[in-house]
Amino acid sequence: MRTSRTWWSALLVCAAVAVGAACSGASNSGAPVTATAAGGGPRAGVGPGLSDARDDFKADDGRLRVATTVAPLSSIVLNVGGSLIRVHGLIPDGVDSHTYEPRPSDAEVLGRADMLIMNGANLEGTTERIALQNLRDPARIYKLADHTLAGDDPATGFLYDFSFPRSDGSPNPHLWMNPLYAMRYADLVRGWLTEHDPDHAADYQENYDRFAAVLRALDGAIAVDRLTVPVENRKLLTYHDSWAYWARRYDWHVIGAIQPSDLSEPSAKDLVDLITQIRRERVPAIFGSEVFPSTTLEAISRETGAVYEEKLRDDSPPGAFDDVAHTYIGMLVEDMQIMFDRLGGSAARTAKVPVENTAR
Ligand SMILES: [Zn+2]
Repeated sequence: MRTSRTWWSALLVCAAVAVGAACSGASNSGAPVTATAAGGGPRAGVGPGLSDARDDFKADDGRLRVATTVAPLSSIVLNVGGSLIRVHGLIPDGVDSHTYEPRPSDAEVLGRADMLIMNGANLEGTTERIALQNLRDPARIYKLADHTLAGDDPATGFLYDFSFPRSDGSPNPHLWMNPLYAMRYADLVRGWLTEHDPDHAADYQENYDRFAAVLRALDGAIAVDRLTVPVENRKLLTYHDSWAYWARRYDWHVIGAIQPSDLSEPSAKDLVDLITQIRRERVPAIFGSEVFPSTTLEAISRETGAVYEEKLRDDSPPGAFDDVAHTYIGMLVEDMQIMFDRLGGSAARTAKVPVENTAR
């Protein structure tokens, strides 16, 4: 990270007394954010007792070998495939999926995989190119987002917003934060696993049905709990711009994302604008990202009095690899508890949704 307390202190003094050009000396350098690996290998949000997402596919026991990318997708795949498949999540927990550069070991794993299931919508950077070079024939690449949304109708299609402006050409890729799109993802996975392994079509269907029931319960619980948040607080200012599809589903107002479109730190001018906006809109809390640790939000919090909450997640489920809650559902449940609580409401109903992997 290029930021430091000293740098931010100088910037905030600058922000407090002047706007724009006077602060240009502290402007954004455009330097890439350094990814912060959480240690260990790739993890997948599997919950205990199922396939290990660190599986390198070296052993061949006849089960489908499914490579995935980010942990929430690995969890969705495992909820459908259960013990019938083996999964390897390529992007380690806590690593920036948008700029992830595959390693030689990823190429080796892809060379042994039967299929790669990725998000698409330009999320995974160069992973697809490495996969095309290394997957065996007839191994296939499947993209979830590209089979979930089409077009750019703001009500039904892909969204372009703060960190993903239309001018850059890539939509906001975080579809999975909407549980109904996660359900669509799971149904797509069911179809693709069945194509490769038709003998277990009924098993994949049963697993999907069980998972979809929990996703429906999650969606219903969030829809009820969101009403406990005062209307004037139903707004979201996050560091990483990953809540667009969640917000569209639950009628929430994403007022901004602090991280610029090049995933660097915001400029001095951006920071001044954000502080002004937080004060004007009386934003009660601002939310960080588990993947992009930043001192920016602490500084903004000090300047505005808004509560800073650092634990909102979109890429890596909570807890250790084999924790029951280290799943896609576990991530959303914890997120809702954090978000609704900080915004003056309660996630009491959402907290009752079972978080464990439902596959058999
Ligand atoms: Zn992201």
